Amino acid sequence: MTYLAVSIGSETVDAAVEQIREAKKAGAEMLELRTDYLAGCDVQKVRSVLAAGRKTGLPVIVTCRDAAQGGAAELSVEQRAQLLAEAIAAGADFVDCEFDNFSGDTRDKVKAALANRPKAGLILSAHDFAGPFADPAKLYNEIIRAELWAIPKVVYKANHINDCFAAIDVLLHGDREAIVLCMGASGLITRVLSKKLGGFATFASLDASCATAPGQLSIGELKGLYRWDEIGESTEVFGVIGSPIGHSMSPAVFNACFEAGEIGALYLPLLVEGEKPSFDEFMNNVIVRGGGGGTGGGLGFGGFSVTIPHKTHALDFVNGAGEFVEPLAVTIGAVNTLKIGFGGIVSGYNTDYAGARDALTAAMGIGPHDLHNVKVAVVGAGGAARAVVAGLADVGARLTIYNRTISKARDLAGEFKCRYAALPDLATLDARVLINCTSIGMSPDADATPVPSEFIKKDMVVFDTVYNPLETRLLKESRAAGAKCISGVEMFIRQAMAQYKIFIGAEPDEDVMRAAVCERLG
Ligand code: NAP
Repeated sequence: MTYLAVSIGSETVDAAVEQIREAKKAGAEMLELRTDYLAGCDVQKVRSVLAAGRKTGLPVIVTCRDAAQGGAAELSVEQRAQLLAEAIAAGADFVDCEFDNFSGDTRDKVKAALANRPKAGLILSAHDFAGPFADPAKLYNEIIRAELWAIPKVVYKANHINDCFAAIDVLLHGDREAIVLCMGASGLITRVLSKKLGGFATFASLDASCATAPGQLSIGELKGLYRWDEIGESTEVFGVIGSPIGHSMSPAVFNACFEAGEIGALYLPLLVEGEKPSFDEFMNNVIVRGGGGGTGGGLGFGGFSVTIPHKTHALDFVNGAGEFVEPLAVTIGAVNTLKIGFGGIVSGYNTDYAGARDALTAAMGIGPHDLHNVKVAVVGAGGAARAVVAGLADVGARLTIYNRTISKARDLAGEFKCRYAALPDLATLDARVLINCTSIGMSPDADATPVPSEFIKKDMVVFDTVYNPLETRLLKESRAAGAKCISGVEMFIRQAMAQYKIFIGAEPDEDVMRAAVCERLG
């Protein structure tokens, strides 16, 4: 079993007791009492908090962390050893002692206490808050060699997601209960996947304000968003690769669909900072550790959504491997979906163009080929515009691209054999469909609009690819002018539905997806 341990770190006994009560209510499977957070920590306070923890019936770890390893108080090594020995005598299920400090008097005191209560366990921990240990596996082995029956705990800051794989390897190849986690935003995968990899515990906070380590997730996030209760050895893992990634709606949307469809899968945000070399390294790290779904063993990544800045890197990666890339993704020059098959074979797709096209045709009540010869004005010439233009040019729409930087409009129009114009030319707009592919009007600049309201006519279809806010100023004004309006959410949902089908091989529940998006966007 991998325990979901909630760390309790309060300055007063009363506040700690209240946190313990809340942790139990939230579904904690273990408690870690960070006694170093108690102001004026002494034996009496530790006993009181421990008694409250034991009352819950949950296993309790007592920790009195050394300030040199992230502890909240400057207690002497003798004081800390005494508190741990007292905690063992008072019924703690485990005590956590820093491996660096486990020598001399501390070792003697803790071992003597454990000899009197053989049911209690010892966690020997090592922390690096600055970056990865040179060799986490070596450290793990040193801890085991020092105390064969101790649970090794190796925790370090991942400065990049690629730093996580050394920690993952310790769990993949280890032969005993161990805690191996990475701190920081880049370490998120180790905290969630610890359960799939058979780690002894992962640590969560009650909420963001109570975190006792950088990057610690809350119990609500782990149990709700990240499906903790459903994770098992054969869980297939998916995720969205990007940088930044914190704002992404995809984890909420995909995990909600997995939950509703009772699919044994999990979807994670994957912060991959850097350019192509970092992206390639990440992909190779995943594949070499058993990509290709949950049944393949190992890490079990089955596929990825890919967002800024990695869509061209994803295309180059699949091309470089000589594997399949959907032809229109090659034309667009971007892959937003990667599927990892058995044997780690990766294929690349683009669901953005179909997402945009389907959003448009569904709202107009027509099929894709009915767009043939329909006049469409596309505002913008960036990545989103590329996907929209490719999808519509493919079915023969008559496109004009308007952009602030005219050279970019000219280049894109040249590639897809359509017309282009400068933004002021929107004044003489003559199109049945208008599509905004710029970021103008996106939160927090929601008062801006890419097209003045006087240019909108009532028989137009106006599609804004921006989805935050749900109703942009462009859509509000277009609705007021009597035009038919399509929100960027429709494109987002349809491209996500297409990704889900590539990942899982079945249709997702559209209503569940829609509800998750709307909840995220308020
Ligand atoms: P991008 O590649 O950076 O392109 C941005 C475009 O916006 C360029 O054409 C740029 O013009 C134009 N632009 C930006 N600020 C401007 C300003 N102040 N005045 C005039 N033009 C301006 O970004 P992208 O990936 O195409 O994304 C654009 C938008 O599409 C995003 O904001 C997002 O909301 C939306 N999107 C939606 C979905 C969906 O699923 N609904 C998917 C992807 C993107 P220049 O060339 O002159 O710089």
